[in-house]
Amino acid sequence: MVKETTKLICITCPVGCRLEVTHEGKTIVKVEGDECKKGIDYAETELSDPQRMVFTVVRVKDGLHPVVPVRSTEPVPKAKIFPILRRLREVELEAPVEMHQVVLANAEGTGIGVVTSRPLPAMAEQPTSAPVGES
Ligand code: SF4
Repeated sequence: MVKETTKLICITCPVGCRLEVTHEGKTIVKVEGDECKKGIDYAETELSDPQRMVFTVVRVKDGLHPVVPVRSTEPVPKAKIFPILRRLREVELEAPVEMHQVVLANAEGTGIGVVTSRPLPAMAEQPTSAPVGES
């Protein structure tokens, strides 16, 4: 099989090592530029089954804000990201929303959940401020 070289930036930590990966198909022959073993793990995943966390917002009915941020509980296969985003566009939660409330339990058959990243009170739960001059 022909050897190829693929350049990647490891996104596992903020160092962001620039990896030069020599591989035959999905089999890694050599990784250069990694400052720790996680770079090799990242390169292997990128070549065989690239994955990313999903971050977006979903609509909330009667919430203090119209949307709430959500995220996947684990990285999902890249090919599933757009189907999951399309599915999340159809979701409308009902306020109040809890922190880490499950939005999708098994996003597009991945076995990975999508949860809220923050709580969101209902419109009616807003604290009322006292009129000026009263305490
Ligand atoms: S190879 Fe190691 S040090 Fe470099 S970005 Fe990846 S995890 Fe961080």
